[in-house]
Amino acid sequence: MKCASCGQKIETTFLGKLVGTYIKDANGKKHPICFECQRAFTKPQLLERV
Ligand SMILES: [Zn+2]
Repeated sequence: MKCASCGQKIETTFLGKLVGTYIKDANGKKHPICFECQRAFTKPQLLERV
């Protein structure tokens, strides 16, 4: 599994879960995002909520 943002390999936990998250694009398609990019993606959203 590769990060859709930075292209780095995303590690999975022993349960098979991504160390990161999925984001949906405008078409509703899921893209895997690594932990580092997840932080970058969620930051603006958190700011918007505040
Ligand atoms: Zn990434």
